Amino acid sequence: MATSDLSMLEGAIASVDEAVAGLNLRDDMRDVLIEPWREIAAGLPITMDDGSRKVFHSFRTQHSAARGPYKGGIRFHPNADREHTQALSMLMTWKSALVDIPFGGAKGGVMVDPRSLSDHEHQLIARRYIMSMHHILGVNRDIPAPDLGTNAQTMAWMMDAYGALNGYERGIVTGKPVELGGSYGRDDAPGRGAALVGDMTARDAGMRVDGMSVVVQGYGAVGSAAARTIEGLGAKVIAASDAYGGLFNSSGLDVNALHEHVRRGNPVPEFEEGDKIDNSDLLELQCDMLIPAAIENVITTANAPQIKAKIIVEAANQPLTTEADEMLNDMGVIIVPDILANAGGVIVSYFEWAQNIQAFRWQLDRVNEELSRFLQDGYDVVLERAQSRGLTMRSAAYEVAVARVAEAIEVRGFLS
Ligand code: NAD
Repeated sequence: MATSDLSMLEGAIASVDEAVAGLNLRDDMRDVLIEPWREIAAGLPITMDDGSRKVFHSFRTQHSAARGPYKGGIRFHPNADREHTQALSMLMTWKSALVDIPFGGAKGGVMVDPRSLSDHEHQLIARRYIMSMHHILGVNRDIPAPDLGTNAQTMAWMMDAYGALNGYERGIVTGKPVELGGSYGRDDAPGRGAALVGDMTARDAGMRVDGMSVVVQGYGAVGSAAARTIEGLGAKVIAASDAYGGLFNSSGLDVNALHEHVRRGNPVPEFEEGDKIDNSDLLELQCDMLIPAAIENVITTANAPQIKAKIIVEAANQPLTTEADEMLNDMGVIIVPDILANAGGVIVSYFEWAQNIQAFRWQLDRVNEELSRFLQDGYDVVLERAQSRGLTMRSAAYEVAVARVAEAIEVRGFLS
């Protein structure tokens, strides 16, 4: 990150402050909106495969339950410290409110590089995390899900650990394997949603996704699904990357074959059908749509002027710093904000939770149909506000979300 750029938490707060001002909310409401309702830190002692012992720092921030139980993923990443977790928990609150699902916001983090762990070590950390946090979790209290560095298998271990302590509870995590009550379509939902909202945005801007050139940074759960979905809508994915580097192919990558290659545990740059490119050059490629789907703050004041995309779809959480966002807006780039672009994940998590409570399963067609409907509603409300008040999509999305959370806080009687 360029040194003059705001940190992730500062950026998250700046977006809320702008909405608070736009909505003329009181200062005491602003404080309730920003301050997390509860935070927990825990050291997780683990015996590693080589017999050594390590303690991993971990966190759970429960930002707000004004509109429903806390909800948010658990991230395994070296930078997943308290401040990051707090910033990400806040985004979850706005995301759930924006797409109007009955959840609040939370986030978990374990400061570890998942690439350095064996499956056994990953499982030990997942179970120890639940042992330390289970008393604040619950199907009507706080429901974790996967995020960067965690996946359906992590959720299975977490669900099992929670059940051993509290009794079997299907809806305690979402994003779990289908065999354990996971929802069809959950894995692909955030990336699929990003592609669908990208398509809605392009159409309203007078462009067509059919034939567009698209660049995707990050080829994990979100990036891969975004690439496969947008390709299915007729776009050409000319470059993709992961933490090891990227690949460029002006004729378009075979995104399904690349998905299989990555799923088998291989790095993106080792796929044979393209030229190697590093992550920073990839972001600056000539393209119609850029989908950052890896980590935060990858577009800063340092590289924003070199970005050539016409549309940026924030599939990752906060991939742009606040200052980069302003620069790109001035350059005329359309930016689809994360709280809308990747809301597909929490929407299908909501479907999963609702299916679990009813002990019932929806078929994939129904999941995808309902996902499209929720995203279209979220998109429409953002567009309408952006147009009627002359705001960017981000400012409009924040105003809608913050207003809904503030209203819930008010009627609960928090400030009386
Ligand atoms: P993941 O772990 O499945 O994949 C992350 C991908 O990013 C991998 O390909 C990884 O190699 C790559 N990556 C990591 N560091 C990188 C770097 N410095 N440069 C380039 N690539 C890098 O994670 P995910 O679940 O796909 O999450 C990606 C983003 O989407 C995160 O910001 C996450 O918070 C957000 N998100 C995830 C979900 C979800 O349900 N999984 C939902 C909404 C938002």
